[in-house]
Amino acid sequence: MSFETRNVDTLVLHGGGFRADPATGATTVPIYQSVSFDLQGTARAERLANLAEIGFMYTRVGNPTQEALEQRLAALEGGAAALALASGQAATAIAVLTLVQAGDNIVSGTDLYGGTWAFFAHRLRQFGIETRFVDPSDPENFRRATDDRTRLYFGETLPNPKLEVFPIREVAEIGRDFGIPLIIDNTLAPVLARPFDHGAAVVVYSATKYIGGHGTTIGGAIIDSGRFPWAEHATRQPLLTRPDPSYANKSWVELAQPFGPIAYILAARAGLLRDLGPAIAPHSAFQLAQGLETLPLRILRHSDNAARVAAFLSGHPKVSAVIYPGLQEGEARRRADAYLSGGYGGLVGVELTGGIEAGKRFIDSLKLLYHVANIGDARSLAIHPASTTHGQLTPEEQHASGVTPGYVRLSIGIEAVDDIIADLSQALDRV
Ligand code: PLP
Repeated sequence: MSFETRNVDTLVLHGGGFRADPATGATTVPIYQSVSFDLQGTARAERLANLAEIGFMYTRVGNPTQEALEQRLAALEGGAAALALASGQAATAIAVLTLVQAGDNIVSGTDLYGGTWAFFAHRLRQFGIETRFVDPSDPENFRRATDDRTRLYFGETLPNPKLEVFPIREVAEIGRDFGIPLIIDNTLAPVLARPFDHGAAVVVYSATKYIGGHGTTIGGAIIDSGRFPWAEHATRQPLLTRPDPSYANKSWVELAQPFGPIAYILAARAGLLRDLGPAIAPHSAFQLAQGLETLPLRILRHSDNAARVAAFLSGHPKVSAVIYPGLQEGEARRRADAYLSGGYGGLVGVELTGGIEAGKRFIDSLKLLYHVANIGDARSLAIHPASTTHGQLTPEEQHASGVTPGYVRLSIGIEAVDDIIADLSQALDRV
């Protein structure tokens, strides 16, 4: 964008290079539903294949609709470049696998989305990679778990069910001395939290949630801050700094040099995405770009409504606890206020005094809120983990997750808040 601004409300509409379609003048990014792109002669084809030039060849690794979304996300986040992917899970997987190989380990906070937990605790083992889980409420736990084979730290800005904000600055600082980047999943706090301002090296999103915002599209993204000094940590980060045999024995730092500080995201795209293949469909990228345009407006409304819901629930006789950052005290509240601005997000946890049966009756009594596994939809949503996804966990994992039998997760939407509260109220009356 030639107009310079740091205002997120403007960046979500104008950020990145897309102004109008060069062929037609269309001001909304077209859906480039094409697998391949004209290579314009063998000389250019060779340059593209060798990464001497960056351009479109094949939609698995790059497409103009995807690119428009990527550039807007990078602009919004204040990063150097982004990679849009088929899902949030793909974003986390590729963000991590770009830096680790068999024998390495990663250190992650315990407070994680269940899919990320399963990937770290179980799937990564299949590739010979160990995850060391630590309690993120004490950032020093990350230092204590680090050894010579630790390649990255991972945390979620606003993890549910605890909704205790991750100490981004503290953990990023510990990693800086070791040459270890912090990857932050900012899915629940886009716009509200700005992880790069606090030292995170990489941000991942499930764009399925607030970015898309309407419950229509699965997608994910990785955003590279462009600020992590990979070249200074050659021993710690061999996958980016040593020759890659699949690219003419050049390192990603070397390959990226003509294009800017994008070694990490280039490796993620031209290495991992090329080899594993979870590309986002152009149509999905288009829909997520549409959602992104109203994200700042929606996230404020989600947050305002959630604050009103949390206040209503905290006084209710059938509720034993309300989990919501704005109601926390002590260090958890200090972190929420240090890392979030404009609101505390759209999630509210509620513990019902009547345990598992109360949770089921409450869910079955809702008339306005949908009973679904998703979060971050414009509509209000609810789920009772003890009677759904929780059954897949081991007893230890159930305990570690912090979810109790009477816990219900609410993802508060942008409806009239009085209607949301009326529905919650009538459902509580039936518990
Ligand atoms: N990260 C967080 C915090 C999530 O809540 C989710 C999904 O619920 C994911 C990642 C995975 O995203 P997706 O469902 O788009 O694969």
